[in-house]
Amino acid sequence: MASLSLRGIYKTYTGGFTAVKDFNLEIEDKEFIIFVGPSGCGKSTTLRMIAGLEEITEGELYIGDKLMNDVVPKDRDIAMVFQNYALYPHMTVFENMAFGLKLRKTPKDEIKKKVIEAAQILGIEHLLDRKPKALSGGQRQRVALGRAIVRSPKVFLMDEPLSNLDAKLRVQMRTEIGKIHKKLQTTFIYVTHDQTEAMTMGTRIVVMKDGIIQQVDSPSNLYQYP
Ligand code: ADP
Ligand code: ADP
Repeated sequence: MASLSLRGIYKTYTGGFTAVKDFNLEIEDKEFIIFVGPSGCGKSTTLRMIAGLEEITEGELYIGDKLMNDVVPKDRDIAMVFQNYALYPHMTVFENMAFGLKLRKTPKDEIKKKVIEAAQILGIEHLLDRKPKALSGGQRQRVALGRAIVRSPKVFLMDEPLSNLDAKLRVQMRTEIGKIHKKLQTTFIYVTHDQTEAMTMGTRIVVMKDGIIQQVDSPSNLYQYP
């Protein structure tokens, strides 16, 4: 069974603009899927519909065999990492990472165990008591990843998570995200407009244009080398 199915999905925003048209995709467990395409082609809209942050106008979204269309974000087995990190400035790194678990009434000792485990994976154990303003861009991005990892979601969504980092750090974090994917053995969906990221990170690439899927294929089939 596919871990995620998108069947005939459309998104029409209030005002009448249709940003996503007839989106069909079956995603298997443990895939690393990349959505790539020019700005405005509907990548984020699709990701936000999967997360439940945007209503699906038409079509069906399944996680496993469960229809998700009317399920609130909190009850989807999904975690999302944003471009701008979206950390809570008044909370420490520990509290930021613990927040989603607290919201779901996870017992305190379990929260502590999971946060510390995730912090170890990301190499940020020494930063748990800091506030976000006392972190570098790369460290903030790790905390944002950590906040998703602690929930052990079935599906991991990332919307241009590296676009605010400088070129060198971006290359380093690409490798790290690849390692995290291997370690967690879960489904990743990663949005980027960067072809190099798409080529080096994905197991399958979905190329979008004007709200429509143009092509779905492996990196080696999609990009021809001279
Ligand atoms: P991408 O992530 O590929 O850059 P988006 O999914 O953000 O593209 O946007 C797709 C299209 O939908 C764009 O034309 C954008 O202007 C439009 N759009 C995005 N959000 C809204 C909104 N809340 N209301 C109306 N149009 C929107
Ligand atoms: P409260 O519900 O009392 O506000 P917190 O959410 O602050 O509790 O903390 C929840 C648990 O996590 C507590 O057991 C606390 O000791 C532990 N904790 C908080 N910060 C850290 C940290 N930096 N490292 C390890 N454990 C922490």
